[in-house]
Amino acid sequence: MSLPSISRFLPSVCGLLFSLITAPALAGGEVNLYSARKEDLIKPLLDDFSKQTGIAVNLVTGKEEALLQRLQSEGANTPADLLLTSDAGRLAAAQQAGVLQAVKSDALTARVPARYRDPEGYWYGLSVRARPILYARDRVQSAELSTYENLADPRWKGKICMRSSDSVYNQSLVAGMIAHHGEAKTEAWAKGLVANFARPPKGGDRDQIKAVAAGECDVTLANTYYLGGMVNSSDDAEKQAAAKVAVFWPDAQTTGVHVNVSGAGVTAHARHRDHAVKLLDFLTSDAAQRWYAETNNEYPVNPAIPPSATLKAWGEFKADTLNVAKLGELNPAAVRLMDRAGWK
Ligand code: FE
Repeated sequence: MSLPSISRFLPSVCGLLFSLITAPALAGGEVNLYSARKEDLIKPLLDDFSKQTGIAVNLVTGKEEALLQRLQSEGANTPADLLLTSDAGRLAAAQQAGVLQAVKSDALTARVPARYRDPEGYWYGLSVRARPILYARDRVQSAELSTYENLADPRWKGKICMRSSDSVYNQSLVAGMIAHHGEAKTEAWAKGLVANFARPPKGGDRDQIKAVAAGECDVTLANTYYLGGMVNSSDDAEKQAAAKVAVFWPDAQTTGVHVNVSGAGVTAHARHRDHAVKLLDFLTSDAAQRWYAETNNEYPVNPAIPPSATLKAWGEFKADTLNVAKLGELNPAAVRLMDRAGWK
């Protein structure tokens, strides 16, 4: 850990590989970050933070679930001060596992709307992603679409592609439905939706978009940054697939579009708690928000910062105002419900 800017791989406690990037020693001390977000999505920002504050950032990247397991098994011995991950469902899981602590700062309270952070300060949203309906331009008229609920209508039989119920994104969407409509109505909806699937759930969000483009199905749900990434892709096939698909913002007259966050929380045993809060503050600052959101085609969590041109092109929408913490709270109920509904 003594050499500056070295990258190496260390076996983790759960047998997976993590890359450990050790920053040069700086006068302002250090802070250790476990990040489920990829290095290229975060490293340039961390370098800016170090330049501004003199605080070195040691970055460990890994898969969401593996990082949480690592934090749990390291317990009080963890070097991590801050956990960065995506989805309120995962942030809540980290909180419930006892690996986070509550923090507060004036900057975070001012910049992160209350609905995008944990009420007690265990974690804060840093970027927002929406999960709208995406449809085949040549086979569906936007006037045929209205709400998530409507996707359970038999008119969509055999026309919907959907990612599996293992996906935390779909779990959070169902958790949001439960919050708005209750379990009984949501279960009936999920059964109707499953009955409309064109194929058994498989693949990630990009695969659903590609399936719509290829004509396997007409409609799907996907997080906006996946479509944004495909629109701006250097891969021609991805670009062409994205061009065949359009965004529909559902529930405009009712509960609004399902939204979620990527975010971060200070660890329960942080040795550099104040530095970790400073880094959180920095990640919500104007320049960081703009860069962080644009790099992954996400919406800034700070409403003062406009979204990227790619996202603006899809128009404005009404976002669900439910506190995303509710999505984590209702995650276990959502998982059980999807299972009962036969959502593979
Ligand atoms: Fe994702």
